[in-house]
Amino acid sequence: MTAPASSGPNPLCDVGRTHPRDRHRMRPVEGELGVWVCDRHGLFARVEEPGKAAELERGDPMPLHDGGAGVMVRTGDERPGGVLLYYRAAG
Ligand SMILES: [Zn+2]
Repeated sequence: MTAPASSGPNPLCDVGRTHPRDRHRMRPVEGELGVWVCDRHGLFARVEEPGKAAELERGDPMPLHDGGAGVMVRTGDERPGGVLLYYRAAG
């Protein structure tokens, strides 16, 4: 699997996207290619293949990079190689 997923600028935090006065970017997760995190909001993002991303809906299970349980929040902008997915830890 080719993974251009980490190319491009860090994505905007999804919370910032919907609050224009609080726009901020997420930062790459150390040691994880193509995964970003916003510590302030407990939000993660990664790039998913468009076909797969289209099947995912808000609330769907989304495994975290560390093996923990996560939950889908929304899809974001298109990226080279796929679509951004925003998700957070479950619970
Ligand atoms: Zn944030």
